[in-house]
Amino acid sequence: ALSCGIVGLPNVGKSTLFNAITQAGAESANYPFCTIDPNVGVVEVPDERLVKLTELVVPNRTVPTAFEFVDIAGLVAGASKGEGLGNKFLANIREVDAIVHVVRCFVDENITHVAGKVDPLGDIQTINLELILADIDSVDRRIDRSRKNMKGGNKQYAQEVEVLERLKEALYNDQPARSVELSDDERLLIRDLHLLTMKPVLYAANVNETEAANSDDNPYVKIVREFAAEEGAVVVPISAKVESEIAELEGEDKAMFLEELGLTQSGLDRLINAAYKLLGLYTYFTAGVQEVRAWTIRKGMKAPQAAGVIHTDFERGFIRAEVVSYDDLVAAGSMNAAKEKGQLRLEGKEYVVQDGDVMHFRFNV
Ligand code: GDP
Repeated sequence: ALSCGIVGLPNVGKSTLFNAITQAGAESANYPFCTIDPNVGVVEVPDERLVKLTELVVPNRTVPTAFEFVDIAGLVAGASKGEGLGNKFLANIREVDAIVHVVRCFVDENITHVAGKVDPLGDIQTINLELILADIDSVDRRIDRSRKNMKGGNKQYAQEVEVLERLKEALYNDQPARSVELSDDERLLIRDLHLLTMKPVLYAANVNETEAANSDDNPYVKIVREFAAEEGAVVVPISAKVESEIAELEGEDKAMFLEELGLTQSGLDRLINAAYKLLGLYTYFTAGVQEVRAWTIRKGMKAPQAAGVIHTDFERGFIRAEVVSYDDLVAAGSMNAAKEKGQLRLEGKEYVVQDGDVMHFRFNV
């Protein structure tokens, strides 16, 4: 399953945010693929389209799609040199697909800051430096190996060394690996290095309860936004404390609490949506009377692979798919109406699934 790692310095609010995530609680029976681990929380992806499809089809049940958040505690200055539980945590980051970097933007005299004062830019740089140092280590080791292999006259290694040198230069200049422009082929050459700074990042700016509704008045959030803009990264202001309170509520109570705070959507929902986007994911739907359900695919997946997300048998025995786009279906008002308008398409093995497709698969068993 796809996952997002939560990183940040100690005492910035990671555990509080992670607790909110696990409190919000996905129905785990629906997601058998998810890991059972105290450091992993499964989140359901809020999606307006699923609500609309449920109204349209009136199924027995509705199941959102989900992905995992991993709590990666313990990253401190010096981690890349084995400080704290350094190496273990860096290894955990290696396994996630994207990073949510929590930054402390709240002031509270009672909560110690590891660097002595609230300093979001300094904090971001401390973490990023550890990730960069770990990557330098990986790249240096790989360059040595590839140089040796190059002596055999294999062209692939020459190209590999060239790519690694470019990455090395960026890293030595404090730039993340993702800032280096690479072709798809070049990316493939170094994929198995699992560079930490190659992973997409979003910054979660943790603000005080009282600032939840107008977080952009917080001067620290502005600083984080300016930094992130240079990297082209997304910032999600959030109050981890508020989220942990919201997560204990449901339905009406939740709506009322959000209204009192002057919010239209919980910060957690905004964070989940932003992380989903960061992972480069698409959603398609199945809409039967038994179940209306959202499924996650990577951009560019073809119909059989997308079917395989439901069950490997669907991929193996794939014959074709009946497809209608979400917009067409909603405009038509029902599956039959869409069919009459000729909006229900038959697609084959080469069809690239689009975000919002409503699919029905035909397959051999
Ligand atoms: P972690 O070390 O990054 O996991 O940080 P924690 O989530 O354990 O939070 C450290 C302390 O900061 C705890 O006492 C939290 O209650 C507190 N804290 C977290 N978020 C906020 C916040 O938005 N405002 C205030 N005042 N305290 C917070």
